[in-house]
Amino acid sequence: QISDIKLSKKGTNVYVRFRPDNYKEEQEGKQVVDYFPDLKTIAVDNHSFKFKRIFPGETTQEQIFLSVGVPLIDPILDGYNCGIMAYGQTGAGKTFSLLGHGYDQPDRVGRGNPEKRGLVPRLLQSLFHEIQVSITPSVTFTVYASFIQIYLEKIYDLLNPAKETLKIYQDTSKGLWVTDATNVPVKNSNEILKQIELGIVNRITAATNSNSESSRAHAILVMTINKNLINQGTVISSQVYCVDLCGSERTSKTGAVEERLKEAQNINKSLLSLGNVIGALVENKKHIPYRDSKLTRLLQNCFGGTSIATLVLCCSANSVSSTETLATLRFGDRANKV
Ligand code: ADP
Ligand code: MG
Repeated sequence: QISDIKLSKKGTNVYVRFRPDNYKEEQEGKQVVDYFPDLKTIAVDNHSFKFKRIFPGETTQEQIFLSVGVPLIDPILDGYNCGIMAYGQTGAGKTFSLLGHGYDQPDRVGRGNPEKRGLVPRLLQSLFHEIQVSITPSVTFTVYASFIQIYLEKIYDLLNPAKETLKIYQDTSKGLWVTDATNVPVKNSNEILKQIELGIVNRITAATNSNSESSRAHAILVMTINKNLINQGTVISSQVYCVDLCGSERTSKTGAVEERLKEAQNINKSLLSLGNVIGALVENKKHIPYRDSKLTRLLQNCFGGTSIATLVLCCSANSVSSTETLATLRFGDRANKV
């Protein structure tokens, strides 16, 4: 599988995916995006933006994987950490892009049309394929998966919902931020997909039980891949963070009850701090404010050094959502200025 995208290993790779209109948009709005032939430039309401690649509404999951996922496979197996983040308002296609169709209903999780499988399952399948063909008597691999959720600055274990909230601490030997999350050894892509499905069902159940919205939480799948070079006695280790960020929409203050207001402030806080971290990196600042939120502390491993950050901006191309779409594009634009 060959991709025509040239990754930037310094700075964030920012892509935009527009989804097809939904019923309401078809009835009430019109298309507001102009696509340019370079596949990188768009104009929305007279504002123009340039990103690594723009994907219009008709783009298939396969095409997204070829452009966004395939270039990551070799670097991951060479020891690069990697963060794949989906950003956008609720309903813009973050979960669809990352996981696929049907991941928002507990009884349909993992049962969607295979053609509509998202970036993460496809990436996992290819990664495990590469791993399988790379195994020799002197090269072995061990892979682990964790799946967590951050809600109101607390971290929950999606693979063990009975567990207390998770703590975050620094592993000084590796210089990494880690949590005490369940870390499951996985041997193939089916095993890790089963864990993801379990985590998603737990996520939906927890939201239903507490009468909250899972769109208000960040879901983060962390995969650790250790390549053991037995003859040299060394291990090449990389971590992949797949991040379904919470909805970026501004919650209207009118009529928001106390709990919802608290939510809105926290959401603004973590997405704001993500924006500040990305902004500080772009500006080459000495101090990067990773410590400002749980989200940025955890994602620290995806930025700088031997890491590749990928941001997929998910948007509607319809006038019904143009305010939120512009806000999303502006967020990505800040990350893009490298
Ligand atoms: P988010 O996770 O950002 O809140 P979803 O991924 O749940 O949004 O998408 C909202 C709805 O739109 C879902 O029903 C999803 O299946 C559908 N959808 C999103 N993106 C696409 C797309 N590119 N093609 C077809 N349907 C999509
Ligand atoms: Mg979602």
